[in-house]
Amino acid sequence: METKSKNLADYRRLMEISIDLASTLDLDTLLYRIVKVSAEIADAAEASIMFYDDAAKQLHFQVATNMELPNMRGLDVPLEGSIAGWIVTNRKAVRIDDVKKDSRYFSGVENATNFKTQSILGIPLITKDKVIGVLEVLNKKEGNFTEVDEELLLVLGAQAAVAIENTRLFQQSDLISEFVHELRTPLASLSTATYLLLRPEISQQQHDQIVNNIHSETLRLSALTSSFLDLSRLESGRVQFKYEDFSIEKLFTECLEIMQSKAAEENIQVKIDIPSNLPDLEADSNKLKQVILNLLSNAIKYNRPNGRVLLQAKVEKDQMRLIVKDTGYGIPEEAMPNLFNKFFRVREIERKIAGTGLGLAISKQIVLGHKGKIEVKSKSGNGTSFIISMPLRAARQ
Ligand code: ADP
Repeated sequence: METKSKNLADYRRLMEISIDLASTLDLDTLLYRIVKVSAEIADAAEASIMFYDDAAKQLHFQVATNMELPNMRGLDVPLEGSIAGWIVTNRKAVRIDDVKKDSRYFSGVENATNFKTQSILGIPLITKDKVIGVLEVLNKKEGNFTEVDEELLLVLGAQAAVAIENTRLFQQSDLISEFVHELRTPLASLSTATYLLLRPEISQQQHDQIVNNIHSETLRLSALTSSFLDLSRLESGRVQFKYEDFSIEKLFTECLEIMQSKAAEENIQVKIDIPSNLPDLEADSNKLKQVILNLLSNAIKYNRPNGRVLLQAKVEKDQMRLIVKDTGYGIPEEAMPNLFNKFFRVREIERKIAGTGLGLAISKQIVLGHKGKIEVKSKSGNGTSFIISMPLRAARQ
């Protein structure tokens, strides 16, 4: 009798959850709600969601109630030789009382995180006939996972899979329409340019100028396409950060080497200022390099001839502060609220200096993904500083 009434209460809870899940379009918030509720209804210590990457034939952790464990975020799990992989391949739920006795158990996670798994109940997340991931609850608080737990989790999983897919689609449709909008204007001007080239009356000089414009505009559109892909992957949560310890001095030096010739063209001096005892930072070094390159490239592009740029790093409490400071034109006050929006460019200089308006949006996504923050200080006519604060040790949810 008691089980039955618990059962009813659980189903009522499931109803509430489905309304709750449908109410958010933010992927991270949604996923966290799903794992919290899963652990709760199955009376489990922890729960996690792995997304399945069909191209790489592997799974990776997207969220977990204990995501703060070292090395948990972005941890890859192979399709072969893991319980989650078995769930994906067989599209079936699995209930295991003692994982040590199960040959499918993948000890990689336990080795990397020190989390001891005893029992698992896992189900596939399926939408439109495609397995998008696996939801697992771990370590039943008392006894073993039951058939009722499995049924409840399957119902929750079906709702969760639809909500995840909706959120991803929503993000993409939004992005695609914005992208098409951004492409229309340059495509129209390219078409006008080719029309002009075909006119017999244009001079050789005009001809050369149009060809140069077409060349730089196609380069810009090509950069726009790759940046746009980067951004859409970041926004939909498909990017996995690979955390490692690395030296900021090395990062700054590498960025400077890449940008040196561009700085030299405008006679801009770039300096690095780092205290000798600066500790390493734990973050995704490639992604952070992308951020610093964006900021450094802007600091050079939007500078004055003979201007200066300073790359600075320091530690404040448990934060690493990275500063990119320039002596350029600065940013008008009214542009500040939109600065990190995708495709935003300051109107006054838009025509003079080529750009995509995606660099800062990408940088912000990367910094936020590391649980850091990015700020800007600027005065029109008086230079700009971008200030990034990152947790020294990788901050997990
Ligand atoms: P892009 O440089 O490709 O246009 P970003 O997203 O990197 O795109 O920057 C958005 C806009 O912010 C730029 O178009 C520019 O107007 C402004 N901006 C960015 N960095 C600076 C800077 N250091 N100084 C002045 N303006 C800047």
